[in-house]
Order: sequence, then structure tokens, then C-alpha cells
Amino acid sequence: MSFRALNLSPQTLQAVHDAGYTEPTPIQIAAIPLILAGHDVIGIAQTGTGKTAAFVLPILMKLAESVRAGRAIGRPRALVVAPTRELVVQIEENVRAYAKHVPLRMATVFGGVSERPQIEALRSGVDLVVATPGRLIDLMDQRVANLSGIEFLVLDEADRMLDMGFLPSIRRIVKALPQKRQTLMFSASLSHEIEQLTHQFQQSPKMVQIGRRANPVEAITQLAYEVPPHLKSALLLHLLGDPKFDTVLVFARTKRGADKIARRLESSGIKTGTIHSNRSQNQRLRALKDFKSGAVRVLVATDIAARGIDVDGISHVVNYDFPMHSEDYVHRIGRTGRAHAIGDAISFITPEDQGPLRSLERFIGRGIVRKKAEGFDYNQAAPPRDERGRGARVRQQRIEPRLPGNSSRGSGDAPHGQIGWRFRNASSNNRPPRRSYRRHR
Ligand code: AMP
Repeated sequence: MSFRALNLSPQTLQAVHDAGYTEPTPIQIAAIPLILAGHDVIGIAQTGTGKTAAFVLPILMKLAESVRAGRAIGRPRALVVAPTRELVVQIEENVRAYAKHVPLRMATVFGGVSERPQIEALRSGVDLVVATPGRLIDLMDQRVANLSGIEFLVLDEADRMLDMGFLPSIRRIVKALPQKRQTLMFSASLSHEIEQLTHQFQQSPKMVQIGRRANPVEAITQLAYEVPPHLKSALLLHLLGDPKFDTVLVFARTKRGADKIARRLESSGIKTGTIHSNRSQNQRLRALKDFKSGAVRVLVATDIAARGIDVDGISHVVNYDFPMHSEDYVHRIGRTGRAHAIGDAISFITPEDQGPLRSLERFIGRGIVRKKAEGFDYNQAAPPRDERGRGARVRQQRIEPRLPGNSSRGSGDAPHGQIGWRFRNASSNNRPPRRSYRRHR
């Protein structure tokens, strides 16, 4: 299937060609014709499937058509609402790339930065607005954002928006829009709540569901490296010794943990950025920009801050701390294997992560291979105290029962300075998932 067969305009085809895409992804093949035909669409697809282009391309085409027909008006005509600032910025980048050859203007609206430039952009007249719900409502209340001319509404990552408690804000926004409009909604999963949203906000929507095969999670090599907690940073440094790890997104559970990892990498001469909610919006955008440009090789992120990060060509995602929820795992590793690029996802697994790892295998419906990192000395002593910091000292106390002379929890047969926790045979662990995963499909 070629983009040409989707009846895209010559300008849009050119933009797609400039972006380097050779063929549409399944969500694009399914959704673009429906959107061009004027239907409301509910798209069930995860990040990484090409869903942004699936809604941006036809909307841009429709906007450009009526600009040419002389029907442009001073108010925005298309509104994309997304849960996080990072996602808004990512959508903006997509729009700018795809709108290169059409005379359209856009504005982004999100919190954490000054309102002034956003107000000025809206006042100057734009065709398309990409916004997070909170700041958009602030600007509606100030009568800066006039949504009475909206013809196209997109609710992106609708499931995330519900999780984040944005439903009342979305209701207020939708109330301010004309009844007659085309509404597109995208969500990673189809839940009862999402179905209710479509009933409230859409008219006879067509559903487009991208099956598991197109799920990027399927395409990614997923590995679990079992590692005692005190050797995690040593293992990360060991992996980074391999030049194939050239654009690495590392996930930490906490902000402090993320800062600590970054300090350790920086002190070993590896250029590292961090992105978490204690950093200002500008610091986060800067870190993302440096990561995208290759100025930093590693970006350490927490789950919330990383939502919606879109960086092409991430070579590896490393779950330094195993995610608390299986959904977070899917979101994390969706950062690699984007559309057609395929990367590896590696999870560090400590003894206490074994249970969550098994739950995850049921959730994603496949086993994850446990591996030992080649050439890594699993018997090395813990790094000196000053390198480990306070958090590591606490962790080390937790593994003490595994050391010789204290066999209450562990095997207790390791020589001093080694851990007595054994790696299980990879093949015996790579078992088929249990049947209950079907519930999650
Ligand atoms: P998303 O829209 O978040 O699912 O992300 C898709 C990623 O794949 C983005 O980095 C896009 O630039 C890229 N992409 C989208 N459509 C295509 C395509 N047809 N071919 C190759 N890459 C694509």
C-alpha cells in the first residue's frame, strides 16, 4: 500500500516523502480514508504506531482545501487535546513537518511556561491548536481561546486523559465547541469508560483497531537481565560500553533515583540528561532536545515525565527500575520500536521484581527471556560506599540475608562480597504465558 493510494493531496504526499516515510502504517491505512470521508473515528492504537500522522495528515488536507476555497475564518478550526505537555510538543513537531507545504498556522497551549506567547499566538489567528486541557481552560476563561469555530476535534491518548482525571475539563472544552464537527478519538485501549466517551462526544463513530501484530511491543526484542540491586549501575555502565547502545532511554522509578543514575553516568564520562517532574518545563524540553540532537547519549526519565516522548531512533530502552504497572512497561518500551524502527528493551530484574515480571508476561501475552549480560562480572563487590549514595546503602541492607552466615532468605552459599542469588536457567524461564492473559487482550 502506498501513500498515493490514500488519496493524499500532492502537498501532503510531498511532506510525507520529506519525512522519509515510504509506506503508511496500518493505523494510517485504516483511519485516513475514514477521516477524509468525514466520519467520526475512534482509533485504538498505541503510541509508536503512527497514529499522530493518521489524524494530522487528513485534518491538514481538509483545512488546506477550504483555505484554498476561501473559507478560512479568524478562529481556530481544528483542536487537538492531549494529556501532557510533552505529547503536545510532539504533535506540534509532527504538524510542522506535515504542514510544510500548506499555508496553515498553529499554536500550542500547555502549562508550566508563560501564557503570554500562547495568548499572542492565539490572538494573531491560527488554524490549528494543540493543547493540554488545563491551560486551554485557563485561556478559555480569559476569553483568549475562542473555540466556536472548531470543525475538527481530536482527543489523543484519551485513556491517559481519563486516568489523569481530565474528564471534567474535557467536558467543559467539548461544550464550548459547535455541535457540528468531526470528532476523532485515540486511545491505547478500549475500556468501558472510553466507550462512554465516544457515546458522549461522537456521532456514529467508526472504530479502527490495530491488532496485536501491529503493536510495536511485538516487534521489540525484550530481555530481562537479572541483577542484584547493588550492581544495577555497574551493569548499566557495562551495557553502555557497547557502542550499539547509542541513544538510550533509561527509566527510573523515582526522581531522586533518576538524578542518582544521571550523576553516576556523568561521573563516568557519559553525557546524560534527566527528565522528571521536579525539572522545569524548559529544562525538560532542553533535555529532550539534547537527546534528539545526539548531544546527550542517555536520557533518564520517570514514567510520568516520559509520557509522550517521541524520539526517532532510540536504540535501547532500559528499565533500570522495573515498572510498577504493566501498562507503564508497554508505554515505556513503546518509545523504542517506533513505527518501523526497531530497538531493544532491557529490564533489570532484582529478586523482588520476579513477581511483577511474571504478571507482565501474562499482561503482554508473551514470555521475556532472562539473560546474563555477556562479560559482566556478577560476582564483583558492591561499589564503594561513596559511589553508591544513601539509597544504595539502604538497598544493601535488604540483601544482607543472602550473604553467608545469614541464610534466612537467600541461598547463603556465596563467598563474602558476592551475592548468593542464582540466575535461573533462561530456557526454563522463557515459558509460555499463562492463559489468563487473554483477559487483557
Ligand atoms: P506515533 O504517531 O506516536 O504513533 O509515532 C510514530 C512515529 O513513527 C513517529 O516518530 C513518526 O515520525 C513515525 N512514523 C509515522 N508514520 C510513519 C510511516 N508511515 N513510516 C515511518 N515512520 C512513521
